Amino acid sequence: MQEVLQGVHISLPGAEDNPQQDRPEARRYNRIHRILGIADALLGFALLIVLLATGWTAKLRDWSYIGAHQHYALAVFFYVAMLSVFGKVLGLGFDIYSYRLEHQYKLSNQKVGSWIWDQVKGWLVGLVIGVLLVEIIYFIIRRSPEHWWLIAWAVFVVLFVFFAQIAPVVLFPLFYKFKPLENEELKARLVRLSERAGARVRGVYEWKLSEKSKKANAALTGLGQTRRIILADTLLENYTPDEIEAVLAHELGHHVHRHIPKSILVQAGITFAGFWIASAVLRFSVDHIAMFADRLDDFANFPLLALVSTVLSFLLMPALNAYSRYNERQADLYAWKSIPAIAPFVSSMNKLADQNLAERTPSRFVEWFFHSHPAISKRISAAQAWAAKH
Ligand SMILES: [Zn+2]
Repeated sequence: MQEVLQGVHISLPGAEDNPQQDRPEARRYNRIHRILGIADALLGFALLIVLLATGWTAKLRDWSYIGAHQHYALAVFFYVAMLSVFGKVLGLGFDIYSYRLEHQYKLSNQKVGSWIWDQVKGWLVGLVIGVLLVEIIYFIIRRSPEHWWLIAWAVFVVLFVFFAQIAPVVLFPLFYKFKPLENEELKARLVRLSERAGARVRGVYEWKLSEKSKKANAALTGLGQTRRIILADTLLENYTPDEIEAVLAHELGHHVHRHIPKSILVQAGITFAGFWIASAVLRFSVDHIAMFADRLDDFANFPLLALVSTVLSFLLMPALNAYSRYNERQADLYAWKSIPAIAPFVSSMNKLADQNLAERTPSRFVEWFFHSHPAISKRISAAQAWAAKH
């Protein structure tokens, strides 16, 4: 949901020869980062396969029933909690490696204690949301084994809207501090920008990212009453007012083009297909495999549902990233039209790329598959081409 500007700051000697050339350091950091993400995803995938292939999921279900004294909903809770603990323990090596990687490349200043606390909170939030979703799915499967997928889909769409609304006021503050932007000059610029857009933005907040990271970021978040632009303090402190205005204009572009509601619609469409496929897969497993679960409402078949969701997300990643990059280009175009000159946009992009150790020119495959934002080199040359024409 959170849309993010990727981006770099220190201009190193040599970088001036070709400012779009990536430093070896940036290449290395992004490669390791990508490999970590892939390895983590593969591990999750392997866990699901092992649970199903060995029948351990049925053992976990039996233990859950014993712990819950045969109470169905409580057993679902124990089952999801056990899966969640396994998942976290298995992935812990990657989490620790990621933490060390950020420090090694001087992108983070988070202390170990604070990091551990974030991990605990993250795990708990995941557990609460996971339990809620799984309980809902199996409650519906029990009530309506024929049309469960359709009802579950409708409930999920309502939940997407709900979570998009509460995210900036309930979820993000669990990890970061926010306060309304106090800089009067920036506020005045924002009012001018949004008046031109004919849009009223309900708030701009300073996001205390510096307590944990040296990277800079900005995003449009929330829905309805909670809709707001958040600007990292790491950005507010190091960028000129003109550059911050360019970033604000980009975020406002997301607002004007209604990218958050549109993304929820896209997500709803994918979830519809996902639940339909999941229903067919569950039905097939009950009728023909019956190895771990011989009833539809036996939650030991949950890894199968998770597998459908994992495979679908993987297959759709390039399409979803292409859609996101399209939205980013729209927001960029909006920004160029709203600000007096293109130069601060270009310099903010360069600063972001340096500060965040982003790759300005990723390979075409990497951009196509992994990147939710167009390559920074492309964003800059598109801006310059646009400025030359206008
Ligand atoms: Zn954006």
